Amino acid sequence: MENCIFCKIIKGEIPSTVVYEDDMVFAFNDINPIAPVHVLIIPKNHMSSVMEINLSNENYIAEIHKAANKIAEKLGIAESGFRLITNCGKDAGQTVFHLHYHLLGGKVLGWG
Ligand code: 5GP
Ligand code: ZN
Repeated sequence: MENCIFCKIIKGEIPSTVVYEDDMVFAFNDINPIAPVHVLIIPKNHMSSVMEINLSNENYIAEIHKAANKIAEKLGIAESGFRLITNCGKDAGQTVFHLHYHLLGGKVLGWG
């Protein structure tokens, strides 16, 4: 996608602090963290949100979850715990329309 900032981050056209990368998944630190650990985990294939998951791309979701586990181990929050969330659409406050999961941890996370 030409004007997608996360596609540009995957290609290295916009700099980011890379935390993890494999064939299908890319992960980098959020530019505006809301927790000591705030990593964005994204599929290398452009899809705008979880609403675009289908039979042809569902493998990316499993790979994202496996990457999240590896990143949690690597960053030392596997034991203390973490939150993995994705915002979809206006009411959830989605601002970047390339599917992404926020991996949050490193402190007690509130709810509500
Ligand atoms: P959303 O609100 O769509 O769920 O989350 C988008 C996230 O992307 C936000 O937490 C925001 O801080 C992050 N973000 C937006 N632009 C950039 C960028 O250019 N670089 C990085 N590293 N994060 C970004
Ligand atoms: Zn994209």
